[in-house]
Amino acid sequence: MDLLDTLTAKGLRGEVPTREEALAVLATTDDELLDVVAAAGKVRRRWFGRRVKLNYLVNLKSGLCPEDCSYCSQRLGSKAEILKYTWLKPEQAADAARAGVAGGAKRVCLVASGRGPTDRDIDRVTGTMAAIKDADPEVEICVCLGLLSDNQAERLKAAGADAYNHNLNTSENTYGTITKTHTYADRVDTVQKAHGAGLSACSGLIAGMGETDEDLVDVVFALRELGSDSVPVNFLIPFEGTPLAKEWNLTPQRCLRILAMVRFVNPDTEVRIAGGREVHLRSMQPLGLHIANSIFLGDYLTSEGQAGQADLDMIKDAGFEVEGAGEATLPRHRADIAEAAQAGGSCGTAASACGSGGGCGPCGGHSHAAPSTPEAATSERSDDAPESSDEDELRSDLVKVRRRGAGTELAPNA
Ligand code: SF4
Repeated sequence: MDLLDTLTAKGLRGEVPTREEALAVLATTDDELLDVVAAAGKVRRRWFGRRVKLNYLVNLKSGLCPEDCSYCSQRLGSKAEILKYTWLKPEQAADAARAGVAGGAKRVCLVASGRGPTDRDIDRVTGTMAAIKDADPEVEICVCLGLLSDNQAERLKAAGADAYNHNLNTSENTYGTITKTHTYADRVDTVQKAHGAGLSACSGLIAGMGETDEDLVDVVFALRELGSDSVPVNFLIPFEGTPLAKEWNLTPQRCLRILAMVRFVNPDTEVRIAGGREVHLRSMQPLGLHIANSIFLGDYLTSEGQAGQADLDMIKDAGFEVEGAGEATLPRHRADIAEAAQAGGSCGTAASACGSGGGCGPCGGHSHAAPSTPEAATSERSDDAPESSDEDELRSDLVKVRRRGAGTELAPNA
């Protein structure tokens, strides 16, 4: 297949495909799916070998958010019966982080709901990072606190943060349909602030919110332009009690095509299968490892994932290996760009100028490029989306609200 040969050749050279080629990946048929996975797998192995980076989420503050992101179980007005608690104490958060590191995680992701941190919140997170790094200086820490004000990124960097997560989530064109309380430009600004302060930028997307193929391609190219070092690909978890509870738009095949498209556009960037992995890829999860080089271990922010041991078993059974603390994630040339950006305090994009782009967290809540009407949702949906039916609506049994780990008396499942 010419398309896949072209994409593989470009990916092996670290080149980005055209927009038309990226769209064509999303339009491939089920008969072509294994060829698509194999082509993306060659690119993945060229830059990341058979390593899988494990990341571990610690939800520092759950629910009670004043923002209205349609996808999110922690949003203003959410009826989702998630855990709700205010800031964990540093030692509580460090305990939770330790469980993830003991399970094999190389990076700990400290996430708090909210529009953005106060300076006092930065102090709290500073104490948490110190407690984590005291116990394990090698662990990478990524912080996700929402929109940053001036100098907050610099304070986080000085306190030992390695990375900052803020997802763009969806295309600039549709961003206004998923949230009214902040803008796409706000999100871009925060990613740029983090990058400018020398933090590694982690920024990704949420698929399955009713978006078009063009929206997906737009956001993935925007992330490349923005110079994101890691791209979490979330698949919408349609939580009961959120506006997107009935948005079951994804199949495992669709998820694999999306992952492949993200890989081709970001050949040498960390691509992470994030929230919704178990819900939407289900028994096809191991095929996702042939495309992505990174996953979350165990549970998500507000939903439960499969047991950490099941993640480890899956990696081993599929012929991959967990990336060790001493191993570099990014290929040398990409790491050099990131280090130069950190040293110079400027945005180090891989190929071009800092663009646009910006959002909060690796979800357990998720998002929706909310179609304005149910009819719009149907007409805009991708061709391979499953037809909506009563049965689809009942698939909320696939969504398990987190009841263990951080903020509870129960041990996490890392
Ligand atoms: S995504 Fe973040 S900002 Fe948006 S509602 Fe959820 S916790 Fe709040």
